Amino acid sequence: MSQSVLLLPGDGIGPEIVAEAEKVLHEVNDNFGLDLRFESGLVGGAAIDATGEPLPKKTMERAQKADAILLGAVGGPKWDHLEMALRPEKGLLGLRSGLELFANLRPAILYPQLASASSLKPEVVSGLDILIVRELTGGIYFGQPRGIRTLEGGERQGFNTYVYRESEIRRIGRVAFEAARQRNGRLCSVDKANVLEVTVLWREIMNDLAKEYPDVELSHMYVDNAAMQLVRAPKQFDVIVTGNMFGDILSDEAAMLTGSIGMLPSASMNAEKQGMFEPCHGSAPDIAGQGVANPLATILSVAMMLRYSLNAEEAARAIEAAVSKVLDQGLRTADIMSPDGRRVGTSEMGQAVLAAL
Ligand code: NAD
Repeated sequence: MSQSVLLLPGDGIGPEIVAEAEKVLHEVNDNFGLDLRFESGLVGGAAIDATGEPLPKKTMERAQKADAILLGAVGGPKWDHLEMALRPEKGLLGLRSGLELFANLRPAILYPQLASASSLKPEVVSGLDILIVRELTGGIYFGQPRGIRTLEGGERQGFNTYVYRESEIRRIGRVAFEAARQRNGRLCSVDKANVLEVTVLWREIMNDLAKEYPDVELSHMYVDNAAMQLVRAPKQFDVIVTGNMFGDILSDEAAMLTGSIGMLPSASMNAEKQGMFEPCHGSAPDIAGQGVANPLATILSVAMMLRYSLNAEEAARAIEAAVSKVLDQGLRTADIMSPDGRRVGTSEMGQAVLAAL
């Protein structure tokens, strides 16, 4: 049965990198007979410029109907002066909450060819392959009440609320246990159960879920220790599951272990396996329009899309193998440049992946 993909290039380098990923998607569509249909839409600053809002109704309607969404990136200095509710980032948050994309999967993989790009010693990171599962629609980023109030006496106080319902913990836990089961069978749940009651509950639910997954080895770690262990001995981890805020921070830290944020894809999934796939990086306004951005994170996001939403594992692997092949050939965009590499731009990198496919 035909499946549909919505392309949302967004802002900055978004259109440049999505253009390359789109070519790869068309190629595997033909090669593997996937019968995909494509649509595109506006989101972020591009949507603000055209319609006045970061997530136009038409885009949301198309997103709801799509089986999978490929997003470039949103945001940039042009829209920074706008009030919070009208900023490009609201488009992204609106898609995440509107589609209930509660599970964010972020692999941090260090290709052996890029071991020297990491700021850590090659022996510490070489062969690194971690998956961080971050809860994306709850926790302190969404908890109510929140705000800035003026106390008696005139001093102002900012406040947020860290809340998780049992069902929210259970559903993200399941995603993580399932992922661990398909990988090396080890899951580390990260919390701050020594200080925060909400994560005492988190730990309790994870322990409860573990009874359903006897083949997965569950461990727990406090977030401060996890931040330290990620730079001390990152290869001890297989799958990490954590809440929204801790996941936000730890997944960026894990991303940097690999040396370039330009290499890392991500997936945000809902309970129906509908997903939004995007590179971990932002719109990189400093290099937008120059044709130098690394398209590989977006191309690898296409691989995640095929694996997690479109049930096309073989095509996903073909893309990952093609990316590895172009790295073997020594092709490098500026962000992953090494002394022995051959420097290429965005479209040359995209073409090389197509050729390797
Ligand atoms: P960024 O990820 O856009 O850029 C950080 C640095 O990494 C920059 O030096 C950039 O040139 C480089 N970089 C990023 N992607 C690259 C690529 N593919 N190839 C080569 N180099 C790359 O983060 P930022 O500068 O903090 O944010 C810029 C804008 O992006 C802001 O408006 C921010 O709100 C937005 N943003 C959007 C998303 C998203 O759409 N998911 C995520 C993060 C930031």
